[in-house]
Amino acid sequence: MTRDDVLKALSAVTIDDAGTSLSASGRLSQVVVDATNRVMFSILIDPSEAARFEPIRSRAEGTVLAMPGVSGVFASLTSERGPSQPAPPQPPAPGRAAPPRTGPALPGVRHIVAVASGKGGVGKSTTACNLALALSAQGLKVGLLDADIYGPSVPKLFGLSGKPKVIEERLLAPMDGYGIKVMSIGFLIEPETAMIWRGPMVQSAITQMLREVAWGELDILIVDMPPGTGDAQLTMAQATPLSGAVIVSTPQDLALIDARRGVTMFRKVAVPILGVIENMATFVCPNCGHASHIFGHGGARAEAARLDVPFLGEIPLNMTIRETSDSGRPVVAVDPDGPQAKVYREIAALLWRNLAGGPAPRAAPRIVIE
Ligand code: ADP
Repeated sequence: MTRDDVLKALSAVTIDDAGTSLSASGRLSQVVVDATNRVMFSILIDPSEAARFEPIRSRAEGTVLAMPGVSGVFASLTSERGPSQPAPPQPPAPGRAAPPRTGPALPGVRHIVAVASGKGGVGKSTTACNLALALSAQGLKVGLLDADIYGPSVPKLFGLSGKPKVIEERLLAPMDGYGIKVMSIGFLIEPETAMIWRGPMVQSAITQMLREVAWGELDILIVDMPPGTGDAQLTMAQATPLSGAVIVSTPQDLALIDARRGVTMFRKVAVPILGVIENMATFVCPNCGHASHIFGHGGARAEAARLDVPFLGEIPLNMTIRETSDSGRPVVAVDPDGPQAKVYREIAALLWRNLAGGPAPRAAPRIVIE
């Protein structure tokens, strides 16, 4: 099964009365066949042509699916024109609620929040998973979408494998990860396939994972973004109706420069920054209790103040966090009352307050001193 086989099959699909074939139309883009013989392609359209092209997309998908050896098809309509730019962003003042977005972002889903980082390896996915679990522990209905096309790690972090169940045509069931609904690009494609994706493909993948997964009613959907601030990330930030974004950074100078780029990127697409999290901050020696600041300290807090974005908290560099996330048993799920879970819970509570302007539905009562 090769790309040429797919193109040959698609030449039998016509797109107009003159009999122009889809393969010859110049509208086919990003035709990819992955290692398990799943085929992905997009059809480039102008947004006004969507209704006319939907039956063509469906026919093209059926044609490819009928080819011997094909194990699955993922065809989408894509427009290279991005969504129109909303009004310039109003960055929220530290501790204050983000400006409200108008209209429901996704039916049934109250808020979609991106967890992003300026570069890889800062603990973005570990933070996204544990934050999602901590939000769930507050009584919120939570989903987690792993959109890290370059290295989807949520299946590993949650110890999940296998393929999501197909409920009906074009509707996938999310997996269950310790009580939260989980979908990962890693369940759908081979990681090496994703590496070669370009803008339109990225956009249709994220759109599909948002719209064609039975998320049900959610208070918050956390999106684990690909690290970095390149075109793919920008496309994704634009294609997702985000309520806000969280930036994870380590205390190192370099990571902070990258974090700054992350803040700039989200501001460019008018997504409010809900806060910066400093990961791998303090190291407390498990033997003697001495606290060391291996990568420096306080940089992210100072940077957040400089950028006028909220600082959400510090997560220590900790062996338990590393061992649990690498063994598919996230610390907030397996030791919900431990000191690490407490850190994530506090950050999650602050995040939710910045987002929704109030405590979570079943959060512990707050003592107000008048
Ligand atoms: P990213 O998503 O930014 O690439 P990961 O979440 O995959 O980063 O984390 C990279 C590595 O760092 C993993 O091995 C993870 O277990 C570890 N890690 C992340 N956060 C911490 C932490 N606070 N303490 C110790 N190890 C951590």
